[in-house]
Amino acid sequence: MADISVFRRLMEKISREPGFSGEFRFAEPMATHTTFKVGGPADLWMRPDPACFPECAGALLALAREEGVPVFVLGGGANIVVSDLGIRGAVLDTGAWTGWEFQGAGGDAAVTVRAGTTMDALVDAAAGQGRGGLEFLSGMPGTLGGAVWMNARCMEKSISDTLVETEITGVSGGRLTIPYREGDFSYKKSPFQNQEAVILSAKFRVYEKEPEEIRREAEKLRKDRAGKGHYRAPSAGSAFKNNRAFGKPTGKLIDELGLLGFSAGGAAVAPWHGNLIINTGNAAARDIRALVNAVTEKVRASLGFDLEPEILFVGEWD
Ligand SMILES: Cc1cc2nc3c(=O)[nH]c(=O)nc-3n(C[C@H](O)[C@H](O)[C@H](O)COP(=O)(O)OP(=O)(O)OC[C@H]3O[C@@H](n4cnc5c(N)ncnc54)[C@H](O)[C@@H]3O)c2cc1C
Repeated sequence: MADISVFRRLMEKISREPGFSGEFRFAEPMATHTTFKVGGPADLWMRPDPACFPECAGALLALAREEGVPVFVLGGGANIVVSDLGIRGAVLDTGAWTGWEFQGAGGDAAVTVRAGTTMDALVDAAAGQGRGGLEFLSGMPGTLGGAVWMNARCMEKSISDTLVETEITGVSGGRLTIPYREGDFSYKKSPFQNQEAVILSAKFRVYEKEPEEIRREAEKLRKDRAGKGHYRAPSAGSAFKNNRAFGKPTGKLIDELGLLGFSAGGAAVAPWHGNLIINTGNAAARDIRALVNAVTEKVRASLGFDLEPEILFVGEWD
């Protein structure tokens, strides 16, 4: 735990910003904010209200820089493993910054979505409006901000395939709209991974489609995920990236090496899915990290491939 007086001073400064409103807590356990359900305390956790979100996010980045405090931007916590020691610095939780606006029709139809919106809420709203194209995100945990940052992918589609533009804010406080450029995105890579910026919203192309058809497809994908055991135990989805050079999905490689059920402490390779590392009930973050390392070693030793983790290790590790 860092010197708490820095975080108290930071919060005093932010609270004096015009229009500030939101929740904040010191030493907030991150296990309650991640789908893996692990993670120690963040020195400061702050969730601005929608009324001030863009301004408060910019102010936090700027004031934190003044105080020398790093800021971690949190979406749904669905792709991260926060260390048992927690996060030294401030966590900006985007969870209250939700909502969408559908625009245009025909070839110009689009939707602008606030970063904290969940994938399922957006797909359901799109169904209500008869706007298709985002169904592939159905059942994926997390927020649109996190999905754009990660360039999330499923059903052979990356979120960048439908992206029109992204609005961000940074330490200078202004709001900047960045049009989609093909070369900026690739498999599980977005340009935001190299920037200190908060994604505020993203605009996606959609098209007219029967609401019932959208609902049917969304439901099918959710059931398919449930059937594959995605929600059977806490996890952060695929632990490792796929790689065409492997010749098959990473989960299949791990399965074929007989590693289903392989464990370290309370973390295990799911007995039903080689690329899913799960918290069996009492995992520590260090168990998950140890298991990721052990699986990587075994794959390297047997096949000569270097696996790349897809899950992100966040916070202070010893
Ligand atoms: C059961 C399960 C199934 C999954 N299936 C898939 C799948 O099919 N495909 C797939 O790609 N992923 C999958 N995932 C992983 C996860 O759902 C996605 O990566 C999702 O996009 C993460 O979003 P998040 O909001 O939870 O991001 P977080 O985990 O909170 O954050 C991830 C990264 O994004 C950054 N970030 C988040 N929001 C913002 C923002 N507004 N501005 C700037 N940076 C931000 C964070 O700082 C962090 O570096 C799955 C996860 C689970 C638990």
